[in-house]
Formats: sequence, C-alpha cells, structure tokens
Amino acid sequence: MKNGDNYCRVCNAELKLAVPFGKMPIANGYLTKDDFDKEYFFELQLGFCPNCYMVQLMTQPDREKMFHENYAFFSSTSARMAAHFKEFADLVIKGYLQSANSFVVEIGSNDGIMLQHFANSGIRHLGIEPSANVAQVAIDKGIRTITRFFDEQLAGEIVEEYGQANAFLGANVMCHIPYLHSVVAGVNILLKPEGVLIFEDPYLGDILEKTSYDQIYDEHAFYFSVTSTSYLFEQHGLEVVDVQPQNVHGGSMRYVIAHQGARPVSIAVVAQRAKEDALGLRNAETFEGLRKNIEHSRDALLNLLRNLKQNGKRVVGYAATSKSTTVTNYCGITSDLVEFISDTTPIKQGKYSPGAHIPIRPYAEFQARYPDYALLFGWNHAEEIIAKEQQFKAAGGKWIVYVPKVQVVG
Ligand SMILES: [Zn+2]
Repeated sequence: MKNGDNYCRVCNAELKLAVPFGKMPIANGYLTKDDFDKEYFFELQLGFCPNCYMVQLMTQPDREKMFHENYAFFSSTSARMAAHFKEFADLVIKGYLQSANSFVVEIGSNDGIMLQHFANSGIRHLGIEPSANVAQVAIDKGIRTITRFFDEQLAGEIVEEYGQANAFLGANVMCHIPYLHSVVAGVNILLKPEGVLIFEDPYLGDILEKTSYDQIYDEHAFYFSVTSTSYLFEQHGLEVVDVQPQNVHGGSMRYVIAHQGARPVSIAVVAQRAKEDALGLRNAETFEGLRKNIEHSRDALLNLLRNLKQNGKRVVGYAATSKSTTVTNYCGITSDLVEFISDTTPIKQGKYSPGAHIPIRPYAEFQARYPDYALLFGWNHAEEIIAKEQQFKAAGGKWIVYVPKVQVVG
C-alpha cells in the first residue's frame, strides 16, 4: 500500500477498514483483448474515519488513470439527467444570480449539460473540465471551458481574470477529488462574500439504507454525509447552509455552502444531521452492518444467476455503467453467467468490461434477440428504463435488480 493510505484525507486520523472489496480495475476502463494483460488493478477498500466521520476509499488509484483524454462518460446521455440539470440551473439562476454581471463557475462541467442553460441565458460562465475530449464537446457548443483540474491555484487565476463568482457548482464531482482541502481552499478564494458553492453527490445515507454498494468505485474517493461535509468546510471558514435530498444517481444530496455567517443555516441542515445520528453515521458498527449486507447481496445475486444458468436461461447485462464494475468484480460475475452487456455508448461497444471482461455489445443486439433476463446495472434509472422496454416485457423478458435487494421484476 502507498504511504498514507490508512489516514483520513480530511483530518489525518487513522481510518478503520469498513468494507474490503478486493482487487478492482478502473470502473470506466473498458478495454480490448490486447489490453487484458496490461490491465491496472488496485485494492478497493472503504474506510471510515472515527474522528470526522468521513467515509472514503483507503487506496486512491492515480487520477491520471481515471480522467484521461479518452474518458468515456458523457453526461448528456439520459433524458432524466438532462431535465435534472435544467432544474438545477433554473434554481441557481433564480436564487443566486439575480444581480447584474453575475458569474457562475462549474467544476467538472463535462459536455456542458448544465452550463448551457447559463450560456443560453447570457450569464457569464466558466466550465472547468479536465477530460479534453469531453471539454471539447462543450466548447463546440459555445460554452467557455478550460481543461484543468480545479485547485487553490486555479481559483486565484480565475479571480484575477474574471473576478469572484456568485455561484460555484458541482454535480457528481466533489466526491471524485482526493485532494479536497485544496479544492475547498479554492472555493474560499473564488466565492464572493455572499457567494455560494452548490454541489451534489451520491449520499452516504442512501448507500447504507439501500445497500447500494455499486456506488463504491475508484472515481468516488468520498461518500459524503452532512455530518462529515460540515466538518470539512468548517476547517476553511465555510459552512453548510442548506441541504436538499435528490432522487438521482440512486440517492444524492445537494449541499449549499457559504462563507461562515454570511447566510442563515436552514432547518433542513439541523434535521438531516439528526437523521444521520439516528442512522448511526458516527458509529463504526454501522459500517460492519453495511459490510454484512453487501456480502448477503453478493451471495443472493450469484445464487440467482447460477440458478438461471443451470436452468438454461439467457441473461444479458443492461447498461455498462461505472457501477457495474464493482458488482461484476466483487461478485465474480463473468461472461459464463452474463452473456454480454448491452450499451448504447459507441465508444464502449466491441470492448470488454473492466476486470470481468464481459463483452459490450450494441443495444441493437439486445433488441434483436431478447434474453430471458436482463441484469439492470443502471438500476438508478429503473423506472425510465423499464417503462421504455415494453417490448422486452411483452416478449416475456424479466429484469434482475439488486438494489435495494436482489429480486426479479416484471
Ligand atoms: Zn477524518
């Protein structure tokens, strides 16, 4: 293990190992047969900090291995997510950008799915997106974007060139960044005195309640709660002033952060912290329970897939999500149990899934010959997907979901 892997990245206390997942590949590392013997693996271990209560990965893989120029994830692929980001943008415009010459910055702005709403409204904006090919899509749409990692230094450069920001936004980005202190210090520099950081990420409370362990993979360095997030921002003179649970990505939390004392703290913050205490987010035993629940979920899914195989049923994976990498590798699901994974993303088609090496095939192959069962890796979009796949159902197809519990649906 690398030096420092056992210490909290927020407060430096010694971490407790909560859930060991074993060797894992990079969740988005779709590969060709030629690359099998060069595949990069690391030890995926969920750690719990008994001091500041931040839940985090113990070993962090090199970030250059994750966010490179061929990064395969584009935000603008789901109608539901597109609607979600429009709603997010509208809320920010109405709530925080009413002054003249407002300036909004987004970290991890991807292909501009959210910033386009600010650009279209003529609001001064800047996207920060380290993946060059994804950033280029945004630039081509006329969205001002720079290809950098955000940190304290970049915050200073932005303020020098554009002035301070009224709003700094992040969607499914903050939890990806191992060097959080430099980011939070940058937030402090970037925000106007009345400015806000509004970000959302998968919520630890949902992971615990739903045993949605597939949220845990290399890109997610942290699993935030209001409790741990409050601790982090308070170290930098900032505070959580509002929280709003979001029903996306299988359960997320939106946090509004402001300079300490600049804005009133909403009752929702107090209520959510009380809820977290009741859920046991400050107790190591809670995570022992999570570990047992994850083991049970794995055993139930494997038993189901093995039974179907013995009964001659065809099972195909539906959507080659980042999440599916944790499930296939942790459970040991390979192409003898799941024939292929159907996915609409051209960049993944014809490749193999990370670690488990299940072939990724175009969606047309799923449609051309429906399997008996589809293993729904995109369970967080279950409603949208099941509603769309009426023909699969009409052909007698059934869905396998594994969150919040392993079951056959339809
Ligand atoms: Zn800590």
